[in-house]
Amino acid sequence: MSLNAESTAFRSALEVIRAVEPRVADAIGAELADQRESLKLIASENYASPATLLAMGNWFSDKYAEGTIGRRFYAGCQNVDTVEALAAEHARELFGAAHAYVQPHSGIDANLVAFWAILADRVESPALKKAQVRQVNDLTEADWFALRRELGNQRMLGMSLDAGGHLTHGFRPNISGKMFDQRSYGTDPATGLIDYDNVAEAAREFKPLILVAGYSAYPRKVNFRIMREIADSVGATFMVDMAHFAGLVAGKVFTGDFDPVPHAHIVTTTTHKSLRGPRGGMVLCGPELADQVDRGCPMVLGGPLPHVMAAKAVALAEARRPDFADYAQRIVDNARALAEGLTRRGAKLVTGGTDNHLVLIDVTGYGLTGRQAEQALLDSGIVTNRNAVPQDPNGAWYTSGIRIGTPALTSRGLGTAEMDATAELIHTVLTQTTSGESKAKYVLDPALADKVSKQASDLLTTFPLYPAVDLG
Ligand code: PLP
Repeated sequence: MSLNAESTAFRSALEVIRAVEPRVADAIGAELADQRESLKLIASENYASPATLLAMGNWFSDKYAEGTIGRRFYAGCQNVDTVEALAAEHARELFGAAHAYVQPHSGIDANLVAFWAILADRVESPALKKAQVRQVNDLTEADWFALRRELGNQRMLGMSLDAGGHLTHGFRPNISGKMFDQRSYGTDPATGLIDYDNVAEAAREFKPLILVAGYSAYPRKVNFRIMREIADSVGATFMVDMAHFAGLVAGKVFTGDFDPVPHAHIVTTTTHKSLRGPRGGMVLCGPELADQVDRGCPMVLGGPLPHVMAAKAVALAEARRPDFADYAQRIVDNARALAEGLTRRGAKLVTGGTDNHLVLIDVTGYGLTGRQAEQALLDSGIVTNRNAVPQDPNGAWYTSGIRIGTPALTSRGLGTAEMDATAELIHTVLTQTTSGESKAKYVLDPALADKVSKQASDLLTTFPLYPAVDLG
């Protein structure tokens, strides 16, 4: 029997790798087996298509292409130009953006590109003007001092970490928290929802240069029209980091006030979460910021990864197909079914539910920390991650929450009935786990963990991962 193209491609790749370092080939095969067997509920993960994966494994990886299309610091970039232009074109068309910069290697990098573009655009700094790549050698020692003084201590207002914001939105462990004087807005303690009046008040008091919206663990839509009005009222640049929900924007689940692209001055994203592309980042903006954004390399980024840009072009082409909109809608339907299934069984959810791809369970109701719950679920074949809840009593390490998301399982084809079954499995594990002698220790009967693992894998048998890929 002849093998299909996907099986042939991956088998051949592994054979070639195995001839050099068999342990790497084995680990790649084992990773597929692990992913096939686990009930993956990590909200930031997905399964890229075989075409996207294969677009990364080639000689584009060998090419240096610093600069941008038409302004490269290296010769012989015509083929890189082709894939970079394709990825950017698909991104512009998909999101309705005037400009797309597809070089960032990750979401963090995309945010750094955006921050520097905003600083360069907004801060009145003659020294900075000189410091743009081509005049950098003209800078005197006094210019450098001026530049640091002028750029330092600019203000950023972003969503607080425990309310679901991201480290890169001005928090201390990240460079953004060292670059900016940061203040954060939280959520209403009673509802868990963003209180826009509160954001407006914080903006009025703090007068940020940048207002950031976007999140990693907020289970609701954000009204970007209102956020833009707030930004405008204080003269801030409005930036949206849509890393988590880009797939829902691409699939037109988030439209109107909930689509960030028409409302924000600049939008950043990852390409590997709900958007289902390769690991990477991207920046979208209007013509005003385009030149600054295109300076991302070498300002902030090293040489672009042409093989990943090729894969971005493939994944973005996939996201422009009509079936992607159906996929995006199913992500949200599944998250809602999961939330309803958990609530019906007595779980306490932050904000009481979801209207995006993720659900945040407050596990203090089960007498557990997030760390204990995460490990107990993992023992039972359910992969999630712990996450802080608003005003978390257990801090950012142990936490009091479990974040779960549906992009990956939806890619496998699971639907709302399976989400209800998943809610049952999660609830069973959490009710049967008891807290141990520390915030990390817990007690769970191994027989029960095995039973749930078996049920979780049974749930997946009718939804094979990469069904066309047979590694033999
Ligand atoms: N922004 C948000 C909102 C995120 O959730 C993440 C990742 O979790 C990032 C940025 C960073 O992305 P990356 O891990 O690709 O650097």
